[in-house]
Amino acid sequence: MKNADIAMYRVKELGRNNYQFCTPEMALEVKERALLDYHLHQALHNNEFVLLYQPKISLHNEKIIGIEALMRWNRPSTGLLFPESFISLAESNGLIVPISEWLIRAVCIQIKEWKEKGLSIHNVAINISTRQFGITNFSTNIKNILKETGVDPQCLEFEITERVLMENSFNNFSILHELKNMGIKIIIDDFGTEYSSLSYLRHFSIDKIKIDKSFIDEITESNPESNIIKAIIVMAHSLNISVVAEGVETAIQATVLKRYGCDEVQGFLYNHPLPAEKIQTLLLP
Ligand code: C2E
Ligand code: CA
Ligand code: CA
Repeated sequence: MKNADIAMYRVKELGRNNYQFCTPEMALEVKERALLDYHLHQALHNNEFVLLYQPKISLHNEKIIGIEALMRWNRPSTGLLFPESFISLAESNGLIVPISEWLIRAVCIQIKEWKEKGLSIHNVAINISTRQFGITNFSTNIKNILKETGVDPQCLEFEITERVLMENSFNNFSILHELKNMGIKIIIDDFGTEYSSLSYLRHFSIDKIKIDKSFIDEITESNPESNIIKAIIVMAHSLNISVVAEGVETAIQATVLKRYGCDEVQGFLYNHPLPAEKIQTLLLP
């Protein structure tokens, strides 16, 4: 019965009206996912999440202008896991909510620590999952964390995807307004990959857009132009929105982005995501 159930779920994934036989691989996949789910439930309690920070560089003065918090899971049975192997599971089982709350608090505690050491730290970005907008009290929880840690909301940037603005938009818009009223900046992450509906830009004032890596990848030595990127930057600037480019890996990409007037860049050309101590040395005056 269990195997039949596994096969049925696979049929549903493939679009119904079909049949599948349960294979040993399928059964193993299900078993591994269940184990991952079980371990993920314990991870928060066991303090297994790790935070790394990747700098964002201003193209106007080549200085670090901000950092983005990126999560890793130090899972005892397998070692360090990247978000792609657990974020979607956490989103589907609801654990993303407590995990993100932990993360936001941890980032705020870190900011406070850096400030106490006299480091000037602005624009600390946190990735916010669509799922978090569905929970009641999201903005109140944020307010409480900020109050508890004494962090200035102006220090924070929330990176959201276009999905947040398209799905359940009435509720999400009002949460975004509350966050903005607190002073938190809003960035549209992975810009250009999802709905790319421009109508929300009219209804909601976005602070920055982050052009997705897939567009940046198109700039190469042999093809050092991208009309799409050029157009996105012109459009954003005319709406008073500043532009970040992610996944910048080569000097030619940086040169072209600078020529187009892009404001900030982030990528392996400058830094990989780094532990807090490394960031501290980079930020020292
Ligand atoms: P993202 O927000 O688009 O983050 C950028 C990803 O690209 C990061 O992967 C980063 O390490 C990687 N990256 C940065 N520069 C380069 C580069 O020059 N080349 C290449 N090839 N990659 C680069 P990471 O850390 O594995 O994160 C993947 C995704 O997981 C993130 O995509 C974000 O959507 C999600 N994520 C990470 N941390 C969190 C979190 O705390 N909460 C939530 N909800 N999602 C998170
Ligand atoms: Ca991001
Ligand atoms: Ca991305």
